[in-house]
Amino acid sequence: MKPLSLRYVIVFAALSALTLLGVGIGALSGYGAEHSPAVLTAAVQKEAKSPAALPKPKAVQPVLPESTPLPVSEALSQRVVEYHIDVQLLPDTTSLRASETVTWTHPGLKPVQELYFHLYPNAFASEDTTFMKESGGELRGDAMPANGFGSMTLTDLRTTEGVSLMQRLQYVQPDDGNVNDKTLVKVHLPQPVNGGESVTLKVQFEVKLPKIFARMGSAGNFVMAGQWFPKLSVYEPAGTRGVQEEGWNLHQYHGTSEFYSDFGIYNVTISVPPNYIVGASGFPVKSAKLKQDQKVYQFYADDVHDFAWAASPDFVVAEEAFSTDHVPGVRIKLYLDPLHKHLQERYFQATKAALTNFSKWYGPYPYSTLSIVVPPKEGNGAGGMEYPTLVTAFGAAEASPGTSLERTVIHEIGHQYFYGMLASNEFEEAWLDESFTSYAEDRLMEQEYGVSSNHVLQASLVTSSQPLDLETWKYTPADSYARNVYIRGKLVLKDIEQQVGTKTMDAIMAAYTRKFRFRHPSTADFQKIVEKVTKKSWQAYFDQYVYSGGSPDFSIDHIKISDPKKEGGDDNARYESSVAVSNKGNQYGDVPIKFTFLDGYTVQQFWNGTEKETTFQLAYKAPLLSAEIDPEHSILLESKHLNNFRLAELERKTLSRWTLSATKLLETLLGTLVW
Ligand SMILES: [Zn+2]
Repeated sequence: MKPLSLRYVIVFAALSALTLLGVGIGALSGYGAEHSPAVLTAAVQKEAKSPAALPKPKAVQPVLPESTPLPVSEALSQRVVEYHIDVQLLPDTTSLRASETVTWTHPGLKPVQELYFHLYPNAFASEDTTFMKESGGELRGDAMPANGFGSMTLTDLRTTEGVSLMQRLQYVQPDDGNVNDKTLVKVHLPQPVNGGESVTLKVQFEVKLPKIFARMGSAGNFVMAGQWFPKLSVYEPAGTRGVQEEGWNLHQYHGTSEFYSDFGIYNVTISVPPNYIVGASGFPVKSAKLKQDQKVYQFYADDVHDFAWAASPDFVVAEEAFSTDHVPGVRIKLYLDPLHKHLQERYFQATKAALTNFSKWYGPYPYSTLSIVVPPKEGNGAGGMEYPTLVTAFGAAEASPGTSLERTVIHEIGHQYFYGMLASNEFEEAWLDESFTSYAEDRLMEQEYGVSSNHVLQASLVTSSQPLDLETWKYTPADSYARNVYIRGKLVLKDIEQQVGTKTMDAIMAAYTRKFRFRHPSTADFQKIVEKVTKKSWQAYFDQYVYSGGSPDFSIDHIKISDPKKEGGDDNARYESSVAVSNKGNQYGDVPIKFTFLDGYTVQQFWNGTEKETTFQLAYKAPLLSAEIDPEHSILLESKHLNNFRLAELERKTLSRWTLSATKLLETLLGTLVW
């Protein structure tokens, strides 16, 4: 295979330069807003159209004699897949008709005679699909509207030689055997594909868009095309994410699960009714043109693993060029619901803050565009979702939203650096995306907007602690998926940060995100980075808190106070208190314990936590009133705080001597307890 041509590199460099110069800055109306110089476009399009142009790093050859220094054509990823799709949003605007030419280059060694495609829209085909059964037709509070079903139909599938493969299709359900689920299909090829070889198939398909409640579909005039085309599963060569044997990683569409795909090239032509405006992944290779009562857009994206687009006649479009030290040059494009027209500066600011900081922390943003789509209120189910170089904010429900606007934009852009560039397996290790993104989001929200997360409260929500590398549909009850994958995983990262310090944690995150760009890292890969940076084993920690649903559970079991020992008169009386503490959960070291005495004196001691239980002996002139483990709730992995605090059972005669201070102290103590 040959690499991207020199022409492409120059074209792309020129395009980036124009971007940096801010060509066409400013708010634009949708039509014709996508302006890349046509002369540049033609070359890109030509290269992209030929599957033979699929660049493979191992096949790179110099175009001119080596003595001439040249810009290097750099494929950032392995580009296993190449899609050329021509899709039409039909006039009823609730269905799509498309043709797709897809090329797969075998990244492994063993001959393969079966390809697998995800047909995600079939998740919404009936109440009996795996997605609908698991989700109950509801996602994040959005329920499927009446008659909201949707589906995907393959109308033709053939080889480049014209051999039909329609009789070689077989729907498979590797996760649950649910025969009513048609979200994954196997295609038996006429000939095997050997490692390094490519195969190209031509597919015709139609999508009946569901009414939006779960990421994709239509809502009034608004269309969100996410997971809308037949999409190849990931074939994992041995060693990828630690797999021993190469093979397909196959899963259906589940109620809780997101996605996993290989990197490649997308060249997508989108035809919509003339009054529609389209925002999409990648960059437009030419201005939208009217052709036979259709407006035709063409987009190109490479080194991405998905392609999404949104369309509406109502979008208010605004665009700005932006660059910083770690952002070589990007056009930020807003596709706003009219209700949020006046908020465009807030969207721009949040986007710039995210790009600037995440690129500094997690490596440069390598793409030339980033689009933010704001769905209408009724399309909220499509909101708060990430796709490569395109994210959706929450549906525009109110004219003056709080900082949830910025939080959503920042979170979804955060995904570009984890889901987008690292491309973890969200079926099997969703925490590598959601926990890491939530961790990044919290930090940026605090830095830029002064909004900090209540981690103590969040810790208390983790009522059912489960492994972080569980396949998403195995979390029970279903809401424990969010509690573990979004919250507990993030708290694990915060906990590691507390143990190693912020500077070291930054080094860990920087090393992890840079080393595994475009490489599908696993949890074990992250653990290795933590160990390399901190120069010690984290096996016991990961075993307990990552690979298992571990949680410490500290308890003050017993307080015993002996009668005061008088040595030389009443004033020198000393009470001896013994406090039995234990950890009924997983091992956790350096635990602070606060002891409060009846005269108001407090002392803090640390328990190293190596044993399951221990006893503290204290001698003081006043009796002990209470003991509390981790009074500041600094141990984020503990959710059961009820037994962390205990009052001494003081006898009446003891209390009477200390009544005044005791009453006040008790009020203060009980008033400050936070579960
Ligand atoms: Zn997320």
